[in-house]
Amino acid sequence: MNDFLNKLFKWYKANARDFPFRRTTDPYLIWLSEIIMQQTRIEQGVPYYNKFADVFPTVQDLAVATEDEVLKQWQGLGYYSRARNLHSTANDIVEKYNGIFPETYDRLRALKGIGDYTAAAIASVCFGLPHPVMDGNVIRFITRHFGITGPVDEAAVKKEIMEVLNGLMEQIQDAGCRLQDAGCRMQDILHPVSHIPHPTSGTFNQAMIEFGATYCVPRNPQCNNCIFNDSCYALKFGMVEKLPLKKQQQPLKPRYFNYLVISVRGKKGLFFRKRTGNDIWKGLYEFPLIETSKTVNLQRLMNTPEWRQFFGASKVKVLGQSTQVSHLLSHLKITARFYTLEIEKPSEKFGTYILRSKFNDLPVHRIIEKYLEDY
Ligand code: SF4
Repeated sequence: MNDFLNKLFKWYKANARDFPFRRTTDPYLIWLSEIIMQQTRIEQGVPYYNKFADVFPTVQDLAVATEDEVLKQWQGLGYYSRARNLHSTANDIVEKYNGIFPETYDRLRALKGIGDYTAAAIASVCFGLPHPVMDGNVIRFITRHFGITGPVDEAAVKKEIMEVLNGLMEQIQDAGCRLQDAGCRMQDILHPVSHIPHPTSGTFNQAMIEFGATYCVPRNPQCNNCIFNDSCYALKFGMVEKLPLKKQQQPLKPRYFNYLVISVRGKKGLFFRKRTGNDIWKGLYEFPLIETSKTVNLQRLMNTPEWRQFFGASKVKVLGQSTQVSHLLSHLKITARFYTLEIEKPSEKFGTYILRSKFNDLPVHRIIEKYLEDY
């Protein structure tokens, strides 16, 4: 193997962090960990991984759960389509594959919610297939070390990075692989954390991610002490802070949510609605909502057609309103306000009436969760 790979494996052996999903090559658990860790800091994701592995220890357990049960376990992690896809794919694996994960990259890739990255992770870690993973950590490390200076959000640049990774995988293969029916399986090596045999391809992928996540970090990496500082392009040409290059980011789209926290006089409960349609937080519960195109005051809100549809001529008492709350998603800036209202009689048009003692059973998104914490 070349110098780069020798240094990488040596570094990983001494520095790999111990996470529960590094102690297994079970495809269900690796899949679970990969989906949970997407767009999530590892410290935040580990407790969710442990919870999921505990509540749904097998793909069959996950498949038979209800969507509400899965979303409830996912609550607070964000990007809820991941949880819905996880649930639906668990059902597919049970129904189409008898609960056994397919063992090729293409068949893994064909499953719902499994993209290039996750298919490569499962194929390499669990089945020893030579598919590199490419996440933000790997992209940063590769662009800096090998001097890839184009914008990484362009397809041609991503292809260039993948070619470098494939080249490294091939060198590992050349260093010793044995052919099996499913393809070329990398020789197993003892994993530095679990000390059980792991395929070399999977260990390579984990080591690349780990180096990018803990050493070749976005701001102020310790280049002076870096094991690659004699070969790093970015360090040599003063481009460490400039790489990876990204095209101008799109500004966040603003949205304005007016939540109606409706209680019935003399009763201890509130109305909730499940979000449907092709929008954020599908499947999660929230209070009846009126979305407006800008911030509005109560008077203007009461003049909207949605308010009239909700309340018509019926009596509604406004008990109060909250200050504005801001919530950022990757592409959205949500400004929300809560109006506490009291009505005389319950009505189905407000949604499902839930008693206070049952609030905790509902899967809700972060804005509602925070409101209920203070309620
Ligand atoms: S020298 Fe600096 S920029 Fe280059 S690989 Fe090491 S940490 Fe990253």
